[in-house]
Amino acid sequence: MATNVLEVRNLKMYYFTNRGVVKAVDNVSFDIKKGEVLGLAGESGCGKSSLGFTLMGMPTPPGKIVDGSIKVDGREIVGLPDDVLRKEVRWEKIAMIFQGAMNALNPVYTIGYQMIEPILYHREGVSKEEALDRAQKYLELVGLDPEIVYRYPHELSGGMKQRVVIAMALLMEPSVVIADEPTTALDVIVQAQIINLMKKLKKELGLSMIFITHDLSILSEISDKIAIMYAGKIVEYGDSEKIYYEPAHPYTQKLLAAIPRLHEDVEKLEFIPGQPPNLINPPKGCRFHPRCSYAMDICREQEPELKEIDKDHYAACWLL
Ligand code: SF4
Repeated sequence: MATNVLEVRNLKMYYFTNRGVVKAVDNVSFDIKKGEVLGLAGESGCGKSSLGFTLMGMPTPPGKIVDGSIKVDGREIVGLPDDVLRKEVRWEKIAMIFQGAMNALNPVYTIGYQMIEPILYHREGVSKEEALDRAQKYLELVGLDPEIVYRYPHELSGGMKQRVVIAMALLMEPSVVIADEPTTALDVIVQAQIINLMKKLKKELGLSMIFITHDLSILSEISDKIAIMYAGKIVEYGDSEKIYYEPAHPYTQKLLAAIPRLHEDVEKLEFIPGQPPNLINPPKGCRFHPRCSYAMDICREQEPELKEIDKDHYAACWLL
């Protein structure tokens, strides 16, 4: 049986702002096995990217991990000093493909310069020439001409820049890669190419990945498991086919009903009324209750726990 490369338990990451404490990641637990892809979906502001940065051990200030555990390859990383995280965990064990490749690359340095920097930092004794060779090998792996190490980001298309950012995340052969909306701002053709590239990397490298997106239709293509986040919490989690074809939580059902489907005759797409809640003062009980058409009295008072409702299928809802 494949081992867990990532184990997250009861993780809480809050932003301590002047307006109050924003509970952006609140009691989140999940596992990822070797070679598995977990799709993480939810509306904007639900805490998906905050969770991604937290797993790298670098919550965006004024964010702080207040509780919980993150184990990468069995090693607890919560509480490690920043220099240890930088040298031994980030990029080595867990790497991130940042949202928006345009902003992830420095415009004043060549691609090669930016790629060899982490190699020289993490691999003592490696020469610049060896680092450049390694960078070129990974550029080839993502379908790029290795000669682009001599080019600047502005000389590349959006799709090429996204591939460079993917190659950078793979440079140290990490155990887990977090892809934060890697297809945002790309046209649909390039989006499809990037998704196919990620599938190829998963197959060839046995890559374990967290794929963050608000687009559930993409997740069905690439994920083994899907976690649905709402207001800082995972409300449904399990095998991707089950989540996609038999969603149990009312929020997941609404999200899926909002996707246009080519093979189904749908007159009108659904939408979810209202707004995601303010996470400084989230609603009591189930956080989805102000927008849920099934809300009952208990939903307004008590928070439902994430429970196994079927084999490897978990949901947090009083209906289930
Ligand atoms: Fe709706 Fe209640 Fe279930 Fe929340 S717990 S999703 S309010 S039915």
